[in-house]
Amino acid sequence: MQRKILTLVDDKNRVLGRIELEPLSTKMEEVQVKHVCPSCGSEVKKIEGVKPDYYICQGTCKKEFSSWRDLKKVTENNEEIKKAELENPGVFVVKIMSNDEFTTRLDDPEEIWGMKELDELTKKNIRSLLIASSTLNQVIVLKGNDTFEERIILLLISPNKTVIAYVLKPDNLYVKNRVVKIKLSEITPEEIEEAKAFIQLLPKATKEDFEVKDFRTITIKKKKKKEELELVWT
Ligand SMILES: [Zn+2]
Repeated sequence: MQRKILTLVDDKNRVLGRIELEPLSTKMEEVQVKHVCPSCGSEVKKIEGVKPDYYICQGTCKKEFSSWRDLKKVTENNEEIKKAELENPGVFVVKIMSNDEFTTRLDDPEEIWGMKELDELTKKNIRSLLIASSTLNQVIVLKGNDTFEERIILLLISPNKTVIAYVLKPDNLYVKNRVVKIKLSEITPEEIEEAKAFIQLLPKATKEDFEVKDFRTITIKKKKKKEELELVWT
């Protein structure tokens, strides 16, 4: 598992702390998978050296297969693993959950997406959902199917106010790692004063801090600036 250790410093190199980063979750252990003859379920042997390689059934049927894609994928208990197309791909049911209840869940994203231009009805409803989420302490959950996989998506506002679809890793495929959580519920006025004094010691992040100067910049063509779409939030 990847781990990273960061030492936090200010611009005068004074150490502010040390953090060890760890992934939010880890995929659960998976059973062994094997490829067998789709006709009789027997083991197959890969014949190499003759181009192209092929597979031959070691059971009674002795069939030959030109690709492993033509073989049957099974678990060690011979349960077939079939990647079947799901019904109603792209249709998502909108649900809500209270923030408090959601805090016990896994919130590790598989992917994060933005949204393209929305029609008026969608814009109005998304706005209502985001208002509920920010003022009524609700988490907006979209549940539905992609072509082969079910998806759980949270509708969120990112730090730069973009409406994002935060595709979650499923609770039953991943285990949460022990990482730090924080509740900022009981903040004293003294703590606020202390925080104010503390951040005054820190340098301000600038435009350059959000750019890199490493090798990746060499192959980049020219900067494309795309207009942002706004869901007016007044
Ligand atoms: Zn066979």
